[in-house]
Amino acid sequence: MNHSPDQTRVLVLNSGSSSVKYQLLDMTDGSRLAAGIVERVGEGEVPDHTAALDRVSGELSAQGLGLDSPALAAVGHRVVHGGTRFTEPTLITDDVLAEIEKLVPLAPLHNPANVTGVKVARTLRPDLPQVAVFDTAFHATMPEYAARYAIDVDTADRYGVRRYGFHGTSHAYVSRAVADLLGKDVTDLNTIVLHLGNGASASAVAGGVCVETSMGLTPLEGLVMGTRSGDLDPAAIFHLARVGGMSVDEIDALLNKHSGLIGLCGDNDMREIGRRMGEGDADAQLAFDVYVHRLRKYVGAYTAVLGRVDALAFTAGVGENSAAVREATLRGLGGLGMEVDTVRNALRGSGGRLISTERSAVAIAVVPTDEELEIATQTYRLVSAERPGTSER
Ligand code: AMP
Repeated sequence: MNHSPDQTRVLVLNSGSSSVKYQLLDMTDGSRLAAGIVERVGEGEVPDHTAALDRVSGELSAQGLGLDSPALAAVGHRVVHGGTRFTEPTLITDDVLAEIEKLVPLAPLHNPANVTGVKVARTLRPDLPQVAVFDTAFHATMPEYAARYAIDVDTADRYGVRRYGFHGTSHAYVSRAVADLLGKDVTDLNTIVLHLGNGASASAVAGGVCVETSMGLTPLEGLVMGTRSGDLDPAAIFHLARVGGMSVDEIDALLNKHSGLIGLCGDNDMREIGRRMGEGDADAQLAFDVYVHRLRKYVGAYTAVLGRVDALAFTAGVGENSAAVREATLRGLGGLGMEVDTVRNALRGSGGRLISTERSAVAIAVVPTDEELEIATQTYRLVSAERPGTSER
C-alpha cells in the first residue's frame, strides 16, 4: 500500500441491522473530527446500507471531510463475530470477507449488517485499506477450559459451539485505561472489567490478557442485561417448547428481547428503574436486585479465577453513570479487598476516576469506554505497520 505519513485519519463504521454509526478520528491525537448515526436503515428514506453509507458520505463531505479526502488512511469496521478464525484486526480482502460471511450462522443478527457495511464502503473507496476489528478477538486468549462448554466435543466442534465472548474492544480498551489511570503497566495488573450498558458483560484480565468473560457462543450468556436474560438453565428452553408450546424463534425473542430488566419490570433503562424504586415500586426493586445479585456472583467468581485482583473497573452506560448499581454491587465485599468510598462514588465526572477508599486493596474505578477510539487505534496500527516510513508500528 502506498500511503504518505500525512494520512492520519481513520473512519470507524459500526454497521448494525437498522443503523450505521460513524466516527472520523485524527490519529495524531485521537481527536474526533466528526461523528454521527444514520438510523432506521431499511425504512423509507434510507432503504438499505448503500443509502445509509451515501448519507454518511454526504454528512462528512458537508463538513469538508469527505471520503475522498487524501488524509484518510483507512476505514475500521466493527465486526461482531470473528469465530476462532479471526483473533486480530484483519485487513479486508475478498477472501477475508468470504470468511466473515461464513460466520453469519454464529451471529445472524449482527454479521450480515457488518458485512454489508464493509462491501458498500469498499465500493465507495476501493483503493482504501479497510480493516475488520472483531468484538470477539480480545477473548481469544481464554484458556481452553474457559472457552469449552461441557458438552460432547465432536458435536460442539462440528457446530462451533464454544464460548467466544463479545464487547472485546471495550474490555481491551478499559483494561488498559485502568492501568493508565493507576500509573501501572497493564502487564502487572489483574483486572475485572464490568461493561454494563444495554448489553452487559464481565471479563477477567490477567496482565492484559483476557482469561474469562461472561458472554459465550452469543451475547446472551452471563449478566442480566437491558433485554437479555443472561445465565439460565438451558432446560428452561426445553420446558418452554414442550410445556409452553413455544417455537425456537419465539424463545429466542423472549430471551434476547423481552427478558433481563425489561422482562422483570417493563423498563430497561436504569434511570427509570431508579426513579421507580424511589417510589417504592416492587417490580423495579426486584429487577435491580436480580441485576446486582448476578453481578456480585461474577465479581466473586472472577476473583477466584484471577486469584489476586488489583483493579475493578465499571464502564458503559450503567457502569459509568449508576452510583447505585456500583454501590450495591460491591456492598459488603471488604472481605474480597473491595471497598467503595461512597462519597467518591456519588460524585459525577466525565473522565476515568477512582471510587475506592484509601485502604481498599483493590483499586475500584469508573472508566469511560471508547470502542471507536480502540477500533481506530487498532486499524491505524495495522495499516501503519504495512507501510514504510511511518513511526506508528
Ligand atoms: P450503553 O449501551 O452503554 O449506551 O448504555 C445504555 C444504558 O445505560 C441505558 O439503557 C441506561 O440503562 C444506562 N444509563 C445511561 N445513563 C444513565 C444514568 N445517568 N444513570 C443510570 N443509568 C444510565
